[in-house]
Amino acid sequence: MIQQSIPTRWLIRFLMPTFLMGISFIHSAQAEEVVKSPRIYTINCGEVNVSNMAPFSDTGEYDGKPGKVMAPCYLIRHPKGNLLWDTGLGDALAEKKEGVDNGPFHMHLDKTLISQLSEIDIAPSDIQYVSFSHLHFDHTGNANLFTSATWLLSKRELDWGLSTPTPFGVNPDSFSAYKTVKTESVDGDLDVFGDGTVKILSAPGHTPGHKVLWVKLKKSGNVLLSGDLYHTIENRSMKRMPVFNVDRADTLASMDRIEKIVKNTQARFVIQHAPESFAVMPKFPAYLD
Ligand SMILES: [Zn+2]
Repeated sequence: MIQQSIPTRWLIRFLMPTFLMGISFIHSAQAEEVVKSPRIYTINCGEVNVSNMAPFSDTGEYDGKPGKVMAPCYLIRHPKGNLLWDTGLGDALAEKKEGVDNGPFHMHLDKTLISQLSEIDIAPSDIQYVSFSHLHFDHTGNANLFTSATWLLSKRELDWGLSTPTPFGVNPDSFSAYKTVKTESVDGDLDVFGDGTVKILSAPGHTPGHKVLWVKLKKSGNVLLSGDLYHTIENRSMKRMPVFNVDRADTLASMDRIEKIVKNTQARFVIQHAPESFAVMPKFPAYLD
């Protein structure tokens, strides 16, 4: 055993904590300094090749036709904190280099969400809020990684997601941390940071507690992140809806409400699952602000 001299032990015992505090201070000072107004980071949290898009319209237009949908996550950085909107397919998928098949869906993930967040120096503990447009598995995959965040959750959505038998498209294990994390119930609309720049808007129908996110950006204007209000560009223009929506009438009412808000606020409409919408957002780690 190597005996350390007293000065060395003293140094380690008393100076190391100071040194480490210094590092964390520099880290948080940098993170706080750079965010002066809201930003949207669009993160690839999985891609899905679909051999038959039929489930995405209950009026038959896609029967037998192939397509592709994205499963993005969005990091909203705001001077008062960070909100993660949707959590993608789940980082475990990246371990399967060839991807995974599930019915007509072939899912794959090139880079984990955690590794992408680390590129901009964000750790899971730096996320103050996590919210889901809804609880389908392609939006909750990484939920359980964010246990120090407050989850902004719709009680209607949660009750539905936990109901028996488990609804189509829901994997309750993927968001099981709801039992232990801090949660805030969001059943209407919510102004997340209290300054009107980031608002969760109720838009039920796809699922009982489905939401969309409206963000006011300083340079780029207003942006609406659709959740699954629509899955494709055509579904928006033609008002088509998936066969698995829980309520058709509620979905049409939500489309009506959100389209009015988009028109009145001249918001840019981002259809989360549409590759065309994904492609025109700044490529991560670039952001829209
Ligand atoms: Zn969905």
